[in-house]
Amino acid sequence: MAGGGSAIRGSRVGAGPMGEADRGEAAPRTRVSYWCKHGHESKPSFAVDAEVPAEWDCVRCGYPAGLDKDSPPEPPIVVPYKTHLAYVKERRTDKEAKAILDEALVARKEERKRRRRRR
Ligand SMILES: [Zn+2]
Repeated sequence: MAGGGSAIRGSRVGAGPMGEADRGEAAPRTRVSYWCKHGHESKPSFAVDAEVPAEWDCVRCGYPAGLDKDSPPEPPIVVPYKTHLAYVKERRTDKEAKAILDEALVARKEERKRRRRRR
Protein backbone atom coordinates (compact mmCIF):
# COMPACT_ATOMS: atom_id res chain seq x y z
CA MET A 1 0.00 0.00 0.00
CA ALA A 2 2.68 2.51 1.01
CA GLY A 3 4.70 1.55 -2.06
CA GLY A 4 1.75 2.31 -4.37
CA GLY A 5 1.24 5.75 -2.82
CA SER A 6 4.82 6.74 -3.46
CA ALA A 7 4.52 5.61 -7.10
CA ILE A 8 1.59 7.99 -7.67
CA ARG A 9 3.46 10.81 -5.98
CA GLY A 10 6.42 10.12 -8.26
CA SER A 11 4.30 10.50 -11.39
CA ARG A 12 3.25 13.99 -10.22
CA VAL A 13 6.76 15.38 -9.99
CA GLY A 14 6.25 17.45 -13.12
CA ALA A 15 3.12 19.17 -11.76
CA GLY A 16 4.14 20.87 -8.55
CA PRO A 17 1.96 22.71 -6.02
CA MET A 18 1.93 25.72 -8.36
CA GLY A 19 0.31 23.69 -11.14
CA GLU A 20 -2.37 22.48 -8.76
CA ALA A 21 -3.25 26.06 -7.78
CA ASP A 22 -3.53 27.21 -11.41
CA ARG A 23 -6.07 24.52 -12.20
CA GLY A 24 -8.43 25.89 -9.57
CA GLU A 25 -8.40 29.42 -11.03
CA ALA A 26 -9.65 30.69 -14.40
CA ALA A 27 -7.45 29.87 -17.34
CA PRO A 28 -4.80 32.56 -17.74
CA ARG A 29 -5.83 35.09 -20.36
CA THR A 30 -4.08 37.82 -22.20
CA ARG A 31 -5.54 41.04 -23.57
CA VAL A 32 -4.69 42.05 -27.12
CA SER A 33 -5.17 45.56 -28.49
CA TYR A 34 -6.71 45.96 -31.95
CA TRP A 35 -6.97 49.25 -33.77
CA CYS A 36 -9.53 50.14 -36.43
CA LYS A 37 -9.22 52.88 -39.03
CA HIS A 38 -11.18 55.26 -36.79
CA GLY A 39 -8.58 54.89 -34.04
CA HIS A 40 -10.87 52.88 -31.77
CA GLU A 41 -9.14 50.40 -29.53
CA SER A 42 -10.67 46.97 -28.98
CA LYS A 43 -9.15 44.81 -26.28
CA PRO A 44 -10.57 41.31 -26.46
CA SER A 45 -8.99 38.76 -24.16
CA PHE A 46 -7.73 35.42 -25.29
CA ALA A 47 -6.55 32.33 -23.51
CA VAL A 48 -2.79 32.45 -23.30
CA ASP A 49 -2.41 29.24 -25.28
CA ALA A 50 -5.02 30.26 -27.90
CA GLU A 51 -4.06 31.51 -31.32
CA VAL A 52 -4.58 35.27 -31.55
CA PRO A 53 -6.37 36.30 -34.79
CA ALA A 54 -4.72 38.89 -37.01
CA GLU A 55 -7.92 40.93 -37.25
CA TRP A 56 -10.79 41.70 -34.93
CA ASP A 57 -14.05 43.53 -35.51
CA CYS A 58 -14.03 46.92 -33.80
CA VAL A 59 -16.39 46.85 -30.83
CA ARG A 60 -17.43 50.46 -31.47
CA CYS A 61 -17.94 50.77 -35.23
CA GLY A 62 -17.66 47.21 -36.57
CA TYR A 63 -14.75 48.05 -38.87
CA PRO A 64 -11.97 45.50 -39.10
CA ALA A 65 -9.25 46.22 -36.57
CA GLY A 66 -5.65 45.09 -36.72
CA LEU A 67 -2.77 44.65 -34.34
CA ASP A 68 -0.77 47.51 -35.88
CA LYS A 69 -2.09 50.87 -34.71
CA ASP A 70 -0.26 52.76 -37.46
CA SER A 71 -1.67 50.68 -40.32
CA PRO A 72 -5.17 49.49 -39.51
CA PRO A 73 -6.83 47.22 -42.06
CA GLU A 74 -8.94 48.84 -44.76
CA PRO A 75 -12.70 48.52 -44.31
CA PRO A 76 -14.49 46.38 -46.89
CA ILE A 77 -15.02 48.39 -50.06
CA VAL A 78 -18.71 48.77 -50.94
CA VAL A 79 -18.38 51.85 -53.13
CA PRO A 80 -18.85 50.07 -56.52
CA TYR A 81 -22.13 48.59 -55.32
CA LYS A 82 -23.29 51.95 -53.97
CA THR A 83 -22.34 53.68 -57.20
CA HIS A 84 -24.31 51.16 -59.23
CA LEU A 85 -27.28 51.53 -56.93
CA ALA A 86 -27.07 55.31 -57.18
CA TYR A 87 -26.92 54.99 -60.97
CA VAL A 88 -30.04 52.83 -61.00
CA LYS A 89 -31.78 55.23 -58.65
CA GLU A 90 -30.83 58.17 -60.85
CA ARG A 91 -32.27 56.50 -63.93
CA ARG A 92 -35.43 55.59 -62.07
CA THR A 93 -35.76 59.11 -60.74
CA ASP A 94 -35.29 60.56 -64.22
CA LYS A 95 -38.02 58.33 -65.56
CA GLU A 96 -40.32 59.24 -62.71
CA ALA A 97 -39.49 62.89 -63.12
CA LYS A 98 -40.33 62.72 -66.82
CA ALA A 99 -43.59 60.93 -66.08
CA ILE A 100 -44.52 63.57 -63.55
CA LEU A 101 -43.57 66.28 -66.04
CA ASP A 102 -45.68 64.64 -68.77
CA GLU A 103 -48.60 64.42 -66.40
CA ALA A 104 -48.18 68.07 -65.50
CA LEU A 105 -48.08 69.06 -69.19
CA VAL A 106 -51.23 67.04 -69.91
CA ALA A 107 -52.93 68.59 -66.91
CA ARG A 108 -52.02 72.06 -68.14
CA LYS A 109 -53.39 71.29 -71.60
CA GLU A 110 -56.60 70.01 -70.05
CA GLU A 111 -56.85 73.16 -67.96
CA ARG A 112 -56.35 75.37 -71.01
CA LYS A 113 -59.05 73.45 -72.87
CA ARG A 114 -61.42 73.90 -69.98
CA ARG A 115 -60.64 77.61 -69.75
CA ARG A 116 -61.17 78.03 -73.51
CA ARG A 117 -64.49 76.28 -73.27
CA ARG A 118 -65.51 78.54 -70.46
CA ARG A 119 -64.57 81.61 -72.43
ZN1 LIG B 1 -13.81 51.47 -34.74
